[in-house]
Amino acid sequence: MKTHKHQIVIIGGGTGGIMVAAQLLKARKGLDIAMIEPSGTHVYQPAWTLVGAGLMKKSATLKNEKRFIPKKVSWIKEYVENIDPDSMEVTLRSGDKVAYEYLIVAPGIQINLDGIEGLKEAYGKNGVCSNYVDPDYTWEVIRNFKDGVALFTMPAGPIKCPGAPQKIMYLAADYFIRKGLDKAHVAFATPGTVIFGTEPFRSELKNYLHKYNVSRRYGYKLYKIDGEAKEAYYTRLPLPENKTDYVINDERNAAGCIAFVWEEGQKHVVEEENCHIDELQENTHFVIKYDMLHLAPPQSAPSWFQNTKLANQEGVNKGWMAVDENTLQSRLYKNVFGVGDVTDLPTARTGAAIRKQAPTIVDNLLKVMDGKDADYKGYDGYSSCPLVVAHNRMLLAEFKYEGVRSSDPLLSKFLDTGKASYAMWLMKRYGLPFLYWNVMLKGYKF
Ligand SMILES: Cc1cc2nc3c(=O)[nH]c(=O)nc-3n(C[C@H](O)[C@H](O)[C@H](O)COP(=O)(O)OP(=O)(O)OC[C@H]3O[C@@H](n4cnc5c(N)ncnc54)[C@H](O)[C@@H]3O)c2cc1C
Repeated sequence: MKTHKHQIVIIGGGTGGIMVAAQLLKARKGLDIAMIEPSGTHVYQPAWTLVGAGLMKKSATLKNEKRFIPKKVSWIKEYVENIDPDSMEVTLRSGDKVAYEYLIVAPGIQINLDGIEGLKEAYGKNGVCSNYVDPDYTWEVIRNFKDGVALFTMPAGPIKCPGAPQKIMYLAADYFIRKGLDKAHVAFATPGTVIFGTEPFRSELKNYLHKYNVSRRYGYKLYKIDGEAKEAYYTRLPLPENKTDYVINDERNAAGCIAFVWEEGQKHVVEEENCHIDELQENTHFVIKYDMLHLAPPQSAPSWFQNTKLANQEGVNKGWMAVDENTLQSRLYKNVFGVGDVTDLPTARTGAAIRKQAPTIVDNLLKVMDGKDADYKGYDGYSSCPLVVAHNRMLLAEFKYEGVRSSDPLLSKFLDTGKASYAMWLMKRYGLPFLYWNVMLKGYKF
C-alpha cells in the first residue's frame, strides 16, 4: 500500500474536474494538483442526444482523456473508493491512499438500472433504450421503429440534464414525420406536472408538443417495466391543486393505456382506451403498452460517495454532496469543494452549470489557501438546457435558482433564445462542441 501526497486532489476528470483544474492552473502558477480519474476517454455527453437521433457519430463525442488533463497535473488513473475528510485522505480501489490539503469532488452521477423493477432485464432489447446509457442503441431503435407507440419517460428524482429525455422525444417525432410514419404515436410520461418550469420556453415547447401530437401524462411515476410484454407500469402522484389533467392529448389519443386496480391481489382492468380517469382511487395503477421505450434511468450520487461524511446523511438530498449554494464549499469541511452532478445544488445538473461553478470554486479555493474565508458567492444557480426540438431547430433555456430566466444578454442581442431557430441549432451541432473541447476544457472563461 502506497500513500501519495498532493496539495490539491481532484476526484474525477469529467467536465467539472477538468474545468476546475485548468482554471486553477491559469489562476496561480506552481500548484501541486493530482487528478484521480479511471477512464482514458473523455465523453462530451451533451451530444449523446444527437447521436441517439442519428445526427452525429458517437466517435465524435469521445476523445483521449490525456489531451485534456493539464500537463502540470499528476494523473492517477484509478477509482476512488472512500474519502476520509477528517484525516484528509482518499482511498483508491488498489488500497493506495492519497493525502490532500484541499479536495475538489467531481465524480459525477451514478446511473441506477436496478432502480426500476424489470429495467435491468428489459434494457437493450425489445426497443428499450436510453441516451443515458448507449445512444447508438437509441438510434438503432428509432431507425427501426415502424409504427405504434413510442413512449418517452422520466424517472422520479434528480437526473443529469433533465431536458434530455424530452429532447430525444422531439427528435424522434421529427424523424418519424420525415420518414412518413403517420401511424407513430408519441407519448411522454413524467412524474412532473409541467413540460418545462420556465417561460417563455414552456410555451415554445408546447408548440412542438402540439406539432408532433404528443400525448402527455403528468404525475406518472414509472415503477416497473415488463420488457417481454412491452408494458410500462406507473402509479399516479397527487397533482397540485390548480391541476386536474393527468393526461393531455391533442386531436387523437396517442398511447394505448390500461388502468387497473388491485383488489385482494388480483388485477382488475377498469378502462382500456385512454387514461382520462381522474376519479379513480389512489391504488389505481396504469400500464402503457409501448412499441419502443426511451427512458432516463433513476440516478444518484455514486454509492461509495454516499457513505462518506461529505454526503448529506438525511433529508431529500440524502447521499448528494452537501455544498453551499453560492460558494460551492462543502458545508461540513472548509478545505473541500464540490462541483457538478454529485452536488446537492437545487438547479439542473448540466455541463453548462459547471461552466459557471468552476470560476467560483477557483476563487474561493485560492482564498482558503491564503487563509481567508471562502466568501465569493459567485454561483447563482445558473444552468441551461439546449432544447433541440427538430433536426434543425433548437431553443436555449437558461435559468438560475427558483427557475428564474437568466438568458445571456450578449446572445439575446442577436437571437431570441426562447424561440427555436436554425441559428441555435447550428450552435448546438457545431458551436457548443467546439467551445467545450477548445475553450471550456482548456480553462478559458466565457
Ligand atoms: C444524454 C445526455 C445529454 C446531456 N445534455 C446536456 C446538454 O445539452 N447540456 C449540458 O450542459 N449538459 C448536458 N448533459 C449533462 C452533462 O454532461 C453533465 O452534467 C456533466 O458532464 C457533469 O459533469 P461532472 O464533472 O459532474 O461529471 P462527469 O462529466 O460525468 O465526470 C465524472 C468523472 O468522474 C469519473 N469517475 C467516476 N467514478 C469515479 C471514481 N470512483 N473515482 C474517480 N473518478 C471517477 C468518471 O470517469 C468521469 O470522468 C447531458 C448528459 C447526458 C447523459
